[in-house]
Amino acid sequence: MVLDTAKPEGAMTGERFIKSLQDGREVYIDGKKVDDVTTHPAFAPMAKELARIYDLQHMDEYRDQMTYVSPDTGNRVSISWMVPESLEQTRLKRRNSEVWNEQSWGQLGRGPDILAPYILMLYNRRDALGQIKNEHCDFEENIINYTRLCRENDLFLTHALGDPQIDRSQQPQNERREVKEEDTALHVVEETKDGIIVSGAKQLATAAPVTNECYVSLSATFSRRADPRFYMAFSISSGTPGLKTLCREPVSIWPGTWGHPLGINYDEQDAMLFFDNVLVPWDRVFMLYDQPPMGPGFGGGLNLLGWSNMCRVHFRMKLMTAVATMIAKSIGVYDFRDVSAKLGEMVSYCEMWRYAMQGVEETTYIKDGQQPRGGAQALQNWFAHTSKRMVEILREISGSGLIMQPSEADLANPEIRKYLDMYMIGKDVDVEYKSRLYRLAHELAVSSFGMRQEVYEYWHGGDPTRNRVNMLRAYDQSAMVDQIEGLISKPLDHGSAL
Ligand SMILES: Cc1cc2nc3c(=O)[nH]c(=O)nc-3n(C[C@H](O)[C@H](O)[C@H](O)COP(=O)(O)OP(=O)(O)OC[C@H]3O[C@@H](n4cnc5c(N)ncnc54)[C@H](O)[C@@H]3O)c2cc1C
Repeated sequence: MVLDTAKPEGAMTGERFIKSLQDGREVYIDGKKVDDVTTHPAFAPMAKELARIYDLQHMDEYRDQMTYVSPDTGNRVSISWMVPESLEQTRLKRRNSEVWNEQSWGQLGRGPDILAPYILMLYNRRDALGQIKNEHCDFEENIINYTRLCRENDLFLTHALGDPQIDRSQQPQNERREVKEEDTALHVVEETKDGIIVSGAKQLATAAPVTNECYVSLSATFSRRADPRFYMAFSISSGTPGLKTLCREPVSIWPGTWGHPLGINYDEQDAMLFFDNVLVPWDRVFMLYDQPPMGPGFGGGLNLLGWSNMCRVHFRMKLMTAVATMIAKSIGVYDFRDVSAKLGEMVSYCEMWRYAMQGVEETTYIKDGQQPRGGAQALQNWFAHTSKRMVEILREISGSGLIMQPSEADLANPEIRKYLDMYMIGKDVDVEYKSRLYRLAHELAVSSFGMRQEVYEYWHGGDPTRNRVNMLRAYDQSAMVDQIEGLISKPLDHGSAL
């Protein structure tokens, strides 16, 4: 797709979305090239589900919750692409994010609403981008046009920031490293009059096979390089020639209708991207041969970036807590003190998150042209561990029922049904209710889908260890250190220590 902003189509519809994916993209799964991601069983359910949610944007019930009138075109466009300039607008953004998460059960870590802020972040730093000069293009102009293209056509993006996981002992900034970056990491091969030619790989890009666009840059881990050819930020169509997308094994393909109630629709896929001499047109380049735009110099740590994700996390926390509570009741353990305390622990996480969101919401919009900095990174770090704990509690409360439940076909078989009605019911609930509830818990805590989600929650904000180290280094402790030094440098005179 070229940067044609002349024919804006407004908020995405389901039909338009499905058609947009039929663009000859090169996607591979399990050794085979996929003809059409919208009909292949590994991708079709997710594509259809997104199409369904996109259609809600045009329904009376949701129009005002999910779209607003574009100041440029007068078309209705997605609120995901709105840059909030008032508290009222951050609340509109919250509601839009809540709808996306209510509809997708908080399971889409990289849904359309979550990736849009990456581009908005760059847009907010357009003046800084414009200060880096390039003879072929103006980065500021590019990001302004690209943001308009995305907003006015409601495009769905993936993003790819990491180098392939080959040898992490070879730091990219080490000029004498033995592993040659050219062999692995994405880099500029040459410049032409049309754009840059890039080759290399990215690990990894969630949802890539069903997105319209692919944003590519460097995460904080890789932001120091020995060679400027590795510094770049751009976005291209996911169907660009030379871009090859290798998908992992699906985490849920199961014929049962409720055996895997979440995985069946929300396996968002994760993919390696291989760039084989891919042309990136000049008008899609946002940074070249200079520091990555998401780095500290460009306003990293803004909480606008994490806002949609925070809404998703909140939904996920409440979902885990409610399922654990219902499970406890369904087997009569709810009133046991130890079990109640564990559920209370989950509730306290939900509530802490809610308080934090209120704080972020009050301060995250642009005021007088100033983008406020926020504390969302600390929340991200905290959730990487809290999520794990919530899964652990769900497992501890559920017991063996988490893996031992009859299938849909078992329930339909009259020869064994009488045993199920006798031995597999719960406290005041029949076997079907109990089985379906437990299968949902299984999906969240045990299934390959649930395990993938858990791995995702831990890693998706980048390496939590690195993030904690970065938080420590950026945290100003001088006032407290001064106070303590004042205390410990006073003469040891009892009565005057304070
Ligand atoms: C399900 C899932 C979805 C994802 N989706 C996306 C996506 O859409 N887009 C995207 O760009 N990325 C995505 N990621 C990638 C994610 O950002 C990375 O997993 C994360 O940044 C960690 O990088 P890595 O996986 O290469 O691990 P590594 O960096 O290889 O880390 C492996 C281990 O080595 C340690 N380690 C590595 N380097 C050092 C060092 N220098 N010093 C000390 N210890 C070190 C780490 O702490 C860790 O314990 C996704 C990841 C997952 C798991």
